[in-house]
Amino acid sequence: MNMTTEQAINRILENQIPVKSDIEYLLSIEDKEDIAILFEAARVCRDQYCGKKVHLRGIVEFSNYCSQDCIYCGIRKSKDEVARYRLSFEEIIGAVQTIYDAGVKTVVLQSGEDPYYDTGMISKIIKEIKISFGLAITLSLGEREFIEYDVWRQNGADRYLLKHETANPKIYSALHRGQQLEQRLEHLGYLQQLGYQIGSGNIIGIPEQTLADIADDIILCTKYELDMASFSPFIPAAGTPLGDWEKANVLLTLKTMAAARLALKNTHIPATTALATLDARGREKGILCGANVVMPSFTPAAVKPKYEIYDNKRCITEDAAACMPCLKARIESCNVSIDEGFGHSLKLAPIC
Ligand code: SF4
Repeated sequence: MNMTTEQAINRILENQIPVKSDIEYLLSIEDKEDIAILFEAARVCRDQYCGKKVHLRGIVEFSNYCSQDCIYCGIRKSKDEVARYRLSFEEIIGAVQTIYDAGVKTVVLQSGEDPYYDTGMISKIIKEIKISFGLAITLSLGEREFIEYDVWRQNGADRYLLKHETANPKIYSALHRGQQLEQRLEHLGYLQQLGYQIGSGNIIGIPEQTLADIADDIILCTKYELDMASFSPFIPAAGTPLGDWEKANVLLTLKTMAAARLALKNTHIPATTALATLDARGREKGILCGANVVMPSFTPAAVKPKYEIYDNKRCITEDAAACMPCLKARIESCNVSIDEGFGHSLKLAPIC
C-alpha cells in the first residue's frame, strides 16, 4: 500500500482544518488500490460520524425564471428557448403533499432567483408547510435580500442552500458575469448568523479549475462548518456559453466527495442528481464514497422537464412517487438504511 495515501487520509482526519496539499494529493491519486483505500476510509468516516444512514430530501422546483445569467446554467435569464413556468401556491402545496405521503421529512423549495415570489408569498408557503405537514424546510432561492432571509427564518424555514460554486474568486466572477465571491460568502455568513442550517458546495470540472481550487473548496466548507456540502459534477447545458465544455470526470467527483467526507466529518453530503446523470450508478457510487443524503425531485411531472439546469437530467420524465421504490432499493443496496427522521444538521443538538 502507498503509505502517502494513508498518511494523507490520517492527517485530514486528525486536523480540524485540513492541509491543502493532503487534499490535493488524494484528488490526484490514480492507483486503483489507493483509490479503494480512500473510498473505504470515507465510508468508515461517514458511518462513524453520521451513521450508516441516508437522508431523503424532496425537492420542489417551483419556478425556472431567473434574474441571473450564470454562464453554465440551462435556465439562465438570457436563454430564450426555455419554456418558463411558475407554480401557484396550491400547486406547490400539492407537490409538498406528495413528499409528505412518500414519508420524506424534508422539503427543499428551489427556484431560480425569481423576485416574483416576494417575501410574503414565500412566508405563506413556509407557514402552510409547517402547519399542515410539519416538515423541515430548506430554501434554495439564490441570493435574496437580507431582510427576507430574516423573515423566512422567523416564519419557520430551517435551512438555506446557497452554493459558493468555486472558492477561486477569478473563476467565480467569470462564471457569474463579474459578480464577486465575497458577496456570495457574505450572504452565507449572514444566513448562518440567523440560525439557518446552511448548505453550500462547488461544481467540479469548470473551466480553469485546478485540483488546488477543488482543495480550496473543501477547505472553505470546513471553515464555514457547513451543515451540508454538495460537490456536483459539471454537465454542459446546450445553448449556454459553456454548452460545448466537456462534462466533469466522475472519478474526480467521487475522490472529491471522499476527501470532503474525511475533512468535514459529520456534514451532510449528497449523492447528487448530476452524478446520477453522468453515471447510471452515480448515486450508489456517491453513497459508497461517503455521501449520506439523496434529494429526489417531487416537482410535478408536467413541468419537471423544464427545470433542466443541465442536459439530460436524470429521472426528469418520471413521477416522483413512482421513482421511490427504485430509489430506495438503490440506496439500500449500498449497505445503508434510509433514515426516517427530519435529517437535521448533525452539528446541532437533536431537534424534535
Ligand atoms: S445557477 Fe441559479 S442563479 Fe444562476 S442562472 Fe441558474 S438558476 Fe439562476
